[in-house]
Amino acid sequence: CGIIGYVGYRNAVPVLLYGLQRLEYRGYDSAGIAVLDRLNNKFIIEKKVGKIKDLQEHLWGKNIEGHIGIGHTRWATHGEPTVENAHPHISQSDIITLVHNGIIENYAYLKEELIKKGYQFKSQTDTEVIAHLIEDEYKNNPDKSLLQIALNVVKKLKGAYALGIISTIEPDKIIAVRKGSPLIIGVGENENFIASDIPAVLEYTKKFITLDDDEIAVITKDNIQIYNIHGEKVEKKPFKVNWDI
Ligand code: GLU
Repeated sequence: CGIIGYVGYRNAVPVLLYGLQRLEYRGYDSAGIAVLDRLNNKFIIEKKVGKIKDLQEHLWGKNIEGHIGIGHTRWATHGEPTVENAHPHISQSDIITLVHNGIIENYAYLKEELIKKGYQFKSQTDTEVIAHLIEDEYKNNPDKSLLQIALNVVKKLKGAYALGIISTIEPDKIIAVRKGSPLIIGVGENENFIASDIPAVLEYTKKFITLDDDEIAVITKDNIQIYNIHGEKVEKKPFKVNWDI
């Protein structure tokens, strides 16, 4: 029900946890984060049923660090509130991890197709299909950019979604997609953010871009590119907010 994402020079973990706390008002039953361990090019994913405070306590002493990451507060729509069903979800070969706010209406059909191809599901969520779909699309088109791969997959999805996607294929990028669920981009200096709502990152920046329906953003620490569903560039100017938290 809440999404946060960070790419930049700081350790992503406290930024994600802080953002999730600011999104608590949206309601949730579980929470989780994923950060990329650059040294091993592997995702570290930690999830917990309950409050952000419980996730925070669960992380104490683990010394997790990464400069790109995503986080999520889940309000279960498909599958019980369990650790397995909590986001971020990860693809079969651990190359894609993502957070999703909303509902994928045609997930049952997509899941069946993926199972036929040999994909194994770890959760009961509608969300997990997206992770495997992106991996499958990548395996079929290894020369395509992550943007193009994401565009191809998004065309297969029916329903409402805001997505934050990170990948070991292009490990410096967050892909953000919006259709029917809110998503904003926080514009920083040598760092950028995504979130369901402005207060989640207002501590770090006052400059924002609103992602509109059917737009997809490719975000690195020093660059933000926005495209429409056809992959054409969309020019959007950031706006400033003058309020504090
Ligand atoms: N439909 C997804 C799930 O049940 C996302 C729910 C949400 O927006 O939190 O896991």
